[in-house]
Amino acid sequence: MSEKKNPSPSKFETLEVSNFLRQIIDSDLASGKHANRLDSAGKPLPSVITRFPPEPNGYLHIGHAKSICLNFGLARDYAHAPQGARCNMRFDDTNPSKEETEYVDSIIDAVRWLGFDWVEDGVEHQHYASDYFDQLYEFAEKLIEAGKAYIDSQSADEIHKNRGTFTQLGTNSPFRNRAPEENLTLFRDMKAGKYPDGAHVLRLKIDMAHPNIVMRDPVIYRIRHAHHHRTGDKWCIYPLYDFTHCISDALENITHSICTLEFENNRPLYDWVLEALKDIGVFKGPLPKQYEFARLNLTYAITSKRKLLQLVEEKRVDGWDDPRLPTIVGIRRRGFTPESLRLFCERIGVSKADSWIDMSVLEQALRDDLDARAERAFAVLKPLKLIIDNFDPTVEEPCSAPKHPHHEDWGRREFTLTKELWIEADDFMIEPIKGFFRLYPPKDGQPGSRVRLRHGFVIECTGYDTDANGEVTAVHANYFSDSKSGTPESNNYKVKGNLHWVSAKNAIKAEVRIYDRLFTDPHPDSGDKNFLDAINPNSKQVLTAYLEPSLSNVKAEQRFQFERHGYFVADRVDHSAAKPVFNMCVGLKDTWK
Ligand code: ATP
Ligand code: MG
Repeated sequence: MSEKKNPSPSKFETLEVSNFLRQIIDSDLASGKHANRLDSAGKPLPSVITRFPPEPNGYLHIGHAKSICLNFGLARDYAHAPQGARCNMRFDDTNPSKEETEYVDSIIDAVRWLGFDWVEDGVEHQHYASDYFDQLYEFAEKLIEAGKAYIDSQSADEIHKNRGTFTQLGTNSPFRNRAPEENLTLFRDMKAGKYPDGAHVLRLKIDMAHPNIVMRDPVIYRIRHAHHHRTGDKWCIYPLYDFTHCISDALENITHSICTLEFENNRPLYDWVLEALKDIGVFKGPLPKQYEFARLNLTYAITSKRKLLQLVEEKRVDGWDDPRLPTIVGIRRRGFTPESLRLFCERIGVSKADSWIDMSVLEQALRDDLDARAERAFAVLKPLKLIIDNFDPTVEEPCSAPKHPHHEDWGRREFTLTKELWIEADDFMIEPIKGFFRLYPPKDGQPGSRVRLRHGFVIECTGYDTDANGEVTAVHANYFSDSKSGTPESNNYKVKGNLHWVSAKNAIKAEVRIYDRLFTDPHPDSGDKNFLDAINPNSKQVLTAYLEPSLSNVKAEQRFQFERHGYFVADRVDHSAAKPVFNMCVGLKDTWK
């Protein structure tokens, strides 16, 4: 087995957390269920093979990340199994009109970005259900010959009506007892393009009185005269999911086929198809088995591909990678790291019970990841001028601060303090409210407040300027020349406020985009709500901010903690050194109640 390139777990990710799937795999390994399997070239097959099977009809979202981390994560964690483990990347591209190469590319990017790959011993395990169209067709013919499938010529409406309901049994199609030879001729003619869409379908002959509606002679092939993104116009009949998926799994020697709970009812069909093909000698055991887990439901987010598409198409967001969207490209642009997403998936775990995960769990995973890794910096997001009246206008006082408070070895950032600075407008109040320890002016014979300019001097507020509307335009202060941070004398000054600042002379002007949740309702699309009604009109705010000069050479996707604000990322699309653009990833604390 080649060395695994997939990421080793971060310090937060733990291999020890078990779940029902790991228990199943452990017991399969203990019984040797998948031991001694060989591939078609006679090479031993991995003891555990999972797959991630997206349909390339949209961009992946945070729910898919759960499935990716689960499937690829199992392959990573079972690398120590007797024959190792792997996860295949599989595009479930059986639906010709809805699938596009753009989506295939974006899915590959997303999975790779999350830190996973599908290369084993130099072989790429990237597959397409459409690669199996020939085999699927051949197996369908075999099922017809064995009397296990028939051509139905009822209309779609009739088929639907005759399927019955939960309380009513289905009725047999008048075409159900066609002879295998007739079925075969019709099927071949369907394939040859002799019939229009909808004229016939191929159905499995199972049981129209089965209590599980899925088992009532499911349709497995239909006529679609449509172009396919990979097979072009070769086919005008296409296999359906229930037939394709289990066979793709068997062809790829998947051991554990993991999907979300809504497929629970389809499991008997999955088994039926594979057993039937085993009976006629197509497959031998052990056959792959399907296991279901609860999908991710995240508050304040929408994970329906259709609704995400609607948000994008109606331009309610700025494209698929809008930082407010739970798409993987959006989350990435927002500044999330692959490590934080893997950590999130590890923390939410895997179970069989549906539940909601609070958005704050996702945000906390990012904080926990970035706290230890992101360099610190000063950024003034809502600037107000501070003028130190007793400061020599020709002086640039050198100051420095650690790049990270717990990593002295990362070195220090250098900047200068000058007579005119930018501070946060919020750090000044003309009439301080109780408990406000930042800047306020002298009043009623009491001096103005004293605060420390972080890594600089202590200042005392002496007054402020206003414009014709009474808006504060500048704050005035004096500084204490013996109070510089890092000097022994500085200890003589005890202040409660500690403000960040940047020099007006050499600060970098930058666009900073502050994002809030896209929806005001934690469950925007539950019940019969229209999710568009819950869109937060203030979810994006664009500010002109001032950054400390050490941020002049930042590369796109570099992340920082802007002190007292939160974590920010240089936008991967719009940022450049000439025109810096930062996105807020997440605040320092969870401010949501
Ligand atoms: P569609 O309705 O188009 O099938 P889908 O969300 O199921 O949408 P797929 O491309 O079929 O999209 O999904 C690929 C894999 O990701 C599947 O195995 C699916 O079960 C899993 N998946 C999709 N949504 C979630 C989710 N919210 N949580 C966990 N896994 C998910
Ligand atoms: Mg699906």
